[in-house]
Amino acid sequence: MSDSLELVVTSTATKLMAATSTNTAEVLESVLADLVEAFAVDHAFLRYNDHQIRASRLIAEWPPRPDIPDPDPIGLVYFADDPVFAMAECAKQPLVLRPEPATDEFQRLIEESGGYVSTFAAAPLISGEITTGTLGFVKSGDREWLPRELSAVEAIASLLAQVQGRIAAEDQLRHLADHDDLTRVHNRRALVAHLGDRLKARRRGPVAVLFFDLDRLKAINDYLGHNAGDRFIRVFADRLRETVGDRCLIARLGGDEFVVVPNSPMTAEAARELATELQSALRERVSIDGEMLTRTVSIGVALGTPGQDSTSDLLRKAGHAVLNAKNDGGNVIAVYSEDLALKAAFRNDIELHLQGVVESDALVLHYLPEIDMRTGEVLATEALVRWQHPTRGLLLPDSFIGVAESINLAGELGRWVMRRACAEFSSWRARGIGQHATLRLNVSPVQLVSEGFAEAVAETLADFDLPGESVCLEITESLVVQDIETTRITLAALKEVGVQIAIDDFGTGYSVLTHLKSLPVDTLKIDRSFVRDLGENAGDLAIVRAVIALADAFGLAVVAEGVETSAAAEILLRHGCYRAQGFLLSRPLSSAAMSKLFARKYIELPFATSRRAVP
Ligand code: C2E
Ligand code: MG
Ligand code: MG
Repeated sequence: MSDSLELVVTSTATKLMAATSTNTAEVLESVLADLVEAFAVDHAFLRYNDHQIRASRLIAEWPPRPDIPDPDPIGLVYFADDPVFAMAECAKQPLVLRPEPATDEFQRLIEESGGYVSTFAAAPLISGEITTGTLGFVKSGDREWLPRELSAVEAIASLLAQVQGRIAAEDQLRHLADHDDLTRVHNRRALVAHLGDRLKARRRGPVAVLFFDLDRLKAINDYLGHNAGDRFIRVFADRLRETVGDRCLIARLGGDEFVVVPNSPMTAEAARELATELQSALRERVSIDGEMLTRTVSIGVALGTPGQDSTSDLLRKAGHAVLNAKNDGGNVIAVYSEDLALKAAFRNDIELHLQGVVESDALVLHYLPEIDMRTGEVLATEALVRWQHPTRGLLLPDSFIGVAESINLAGELGRWVMRRACAEFSSWRARGIGQHATLRLNVSPVQLVSEGFAEAVAETLADFDLPGESVCLEITESLVVQDIETTRITLAALKEVGVQIAIDDFGTGYSVLTHLKSLPVDTLKIDRSFVRDLGENAGDLAIVRAVIALADAFGLAVVAEGVETSAAAEILLRHGCYRAQGFLLSRPLSSAAMSKLFARKYIELPFATSRRAVP
């Protein structure tokens, strides 16, 4: 190789060193431009072989051809379609085709191509045993290619093959680094990079983010195994891909969490519409191991403003929104708002502090007396749990019972309430007070259907030496209806133990009317929403009367909850309901105050009664 040819090879090597997957096109063009000049040819090109589809693909050329038709007829050429290109499929040696002196082969090609009169030289790109491409030169008319020129071309082809391999490996690595193994959609890293770019100042906004969470995927994993769970996630990703096409970027954050980012700016309204569209597409059933599965999906939507919101802010907001959607029972779309954030923050805080609350001394019981409104006698007391929260003060059960249920603490919390209430009640009875009264305990749905619940109740009663009929368990109507069979079995077991059963919040939501006859229930508690406005609301009165009549027909006791006014008390009495709880009669009391009240046996009635009503 002459000095000048050596120089061409080394300067090509230097240029190629700078090639990366983002600038290859320019680097290759510039290399080809140098070669056109160095070898004094008219045209240089680089093609890669695609052995999978058996074709040759144009990668770079110099000079650019004017007016390339679309599609470019030589952009992708199948080996089967063209004998010249076919030679490139597994060539191992450089090849020169000249008009003179004509080889037989060249003659044949001239005839076939209708008068080909250029000189053509090509060297294969080789990697191991495989021919990966072609570096080619065209010069019109005849040109002699000297052996040292050809060995320079071979050297350059081998450099190009190395770059080709290196960039392909880089691309593959990047693909692996940016995509999720299981589903082939983007991963968190790629999502963060994409959002980082979209949220740069002066980019167009708002940038919408849709956060997807499969509802109850855990059940699939638990019942059908993790393989089925994985397949379900893959089908989910495919559906998502089919539905959004290239309108959006899709990423999987791990587990069953997916994020979709529409390519174009979007209002909250439009994002919600897109979410609705996707939600219904994803609801279709999937067959896994011969089981037809339907899983609903919860979607949280949040919008980010370029130049203002950070990627982590935006993802956090969408995450809040989806959490809220799930807490609303799943299969819900929630759009982020400040209000929702406060709710979520509160819930997180509760969740955080609730762990360990049962062992700590932070739970307290208050007691709400139940009064005979004819006489003022204290008939029963209902244990109501409160939580002395480290920073939020005394919390009422509505703000943490639901959270406890969702993090599987309801059982533990319920056991604590039952033991504590039974212990206190038993100590009062030992002092001779409250002996004819009933202790009422609220039972969470999760508790009631848990294994061995009736046995645990029996054990607690025995531990504190309480007769079964002195305790009444309050269950909510919704639970009874949701799982009527389990409820029936558990209630039967509880009856064996001897405790009483009340249906709490009767009249709200689901109706147990149809089951009332067949369930071993002793008491109905009329929900306070019907009692509160008695005297003003004729509809409420109708319901209350119906409940009283029903209780009568089935021989059940009836207790009114939430008596706040004398008007309500009088109406209830007039219609035959004399048992009641409510702020008019008494607020919830501390355990010390409750024991004092039990000792007194009666409260001062805050309204005039005709004692004649007492039988
Ligand atoms: P609930 O069983 O229906 O209990 C009655 C609720 O109504 C109590 O609220 C009580 O303070 C309130 N209340 C009674 N009379 C009036 C009134 O005249 N006006 C008004 N505005 N409210 C009245 P609290 O203590 O906040 O309990 C709420 C719910 O939390 C209870 O409703 C019960 O379902 C649940 N809960 C309470 N303690 C426990 C517990 O230990 N375990 C379980 N699982 N749930 C509990
Ligand atoms: Mg109750
Ligand atoms: Mg109630």
